[in-house]
Amino acid sequence: MTLPTFEEARKIVLDHVAPLGAEQVPLLDAVGRVLAEDVASPSDFPAWDNSAMDGYAVRAADAQGGARLPLAAYLPAGSAGAGPLAPGTAAKILTGAPVPEGADAIVPFEEAEEQDGTVRAVAPVRAGAHVRRRAEDLRAGELALQAGTVIGPPQVSWLATSSRLFVPVHRRPRVAILSTGDELVPPGEPVGPGKIHDSNGVAVAAAVRQAGGEPVLLGIARDDREALRERLAEALRADAVVTSAGVSMGDRDYVREVLAALDVRQIFWKVDIKPGRPTAFALRGATPVFSLPGNPVSTLLTFEQFVRPALLRMQGRREVLRPTVRAVFQEDLRRKPGRTHFLRVRLERRGDALLAWSAGNQDTGILKTMLRADGIAILPSDLGDLSSGTPVEVQILSPDLAPA
Ligand code: AMP
Ligand code: MG
Repeated sequence: MTLPTFEEARKIVLDHVAPLGAEQVPLLDAVGRVLAEDVASPSDFPAWDNSAMDGYAVRAADAQGGARLPLAAYLPAGSAGAGPLAPGTAAKILTGAPVPEGADAIVPFEEAEEQDGTVRAVAPVRAGAHVRRRAEDLRAGELALQAGTVIGPPQVSWLATSSRLFVPVHRRPRVAILSTGDELVPPGEPVGPGKIHDSNGVAVAAAVRQAGGEPVLLGIARDDREALRERLAEALRADAVVTSAGVSMGDRDYVREVLAALDVRQIFWKVDIKPGRPTAFALRGATPVFSLPGNPVSTLLTFEQFVRPALLRMQGRREVLRPTVRAVFQEDLRRKPGRTHFLRVRLERRGDALLAWSAGNQDTGILKTMLRADGIAILPSDLGDLSSGTPVEVQILSPDLAPA
């Protein structure tokens, strides 16, 4: 059987996950989340003609030729407005105040001379000048925000303008996280001979949180069928499940077998990638189950490639893949074509160019290389040896080089 390629496997995953339902959240909590419904403007914005400047409301025709106009009213911001402006008069007005009926232009302070209760324009006055027209921004009923929009400060600003306190957004997935392995001990507890601390649990939780999900840490399951069955059954109550380790060829790698016994349908096992080949993807109903390999580097890299896009899609994001940038590789690297290779790289900007170096030993046992990596170069399966100067596509991970 030929293994799915990297792109095929990622597409299979994305084809099997869909946005979760909607919930109403307070405006500020909606930041970074995806609007689940179209939102139309409830009224006209602005609601009335108002002044765009501090100045004087006039009839443009009255103010030509430097004519002196008596000041008939004072309209600061927040004033409920005065009656109509009598012909041949002006009203002092501040930015945002309603333009009185009859007035059709604002003469800014900078273009006016006020004296003894009168004002004159020192420049020609154009009808309509510095007046913000009712509904020029949005008309009542006009589509303001489309379902699928990611909420950021501008969207919050408009929602607040229209007095919305709650917004319908797609739910965040609750993601059950299970580490598996007899060698694992929770961080903070002493490790005996042959034992190591479970780093994958909290690392996956961190990645889930960065991807907008809610991690549900289920701890460690021993390498035995009963322990796994109990924990996985619990895990399947979440919106998504991520396990680490126990999916390779070892004779205690029971994760897939136990999932199958729980009616979880395997969609693929093994992908033509390095590292991360034993990655498995399965479904129970609509619940995606990701079984990631146990080496902490492989766990994080496969999370990045398969789980993160799926979690973003479940939150309603349309763009779920990190943008890649082109960098120029600065080393010679021997490589057999075959699998897609995720290379941890260090990046540096020099002028217009982005330069990439291997971040260190690429063995999956070496976490240090991951700590030093600014990005992941994706070397396509058909690519052979790399020489210095070869362009490579890189997913940027470092928040210093690309916003999160
Ligand atoms: P496995 O996939 O079970 O063969 O595990 C591969 C390697 O990853 C082994 O060296 C494990 O000890 C290690 N490993 C598995 N799970 C974890 C974990 N939760 N935290 C840290 N290392 C792990
Ligand atoms: Mg193991």
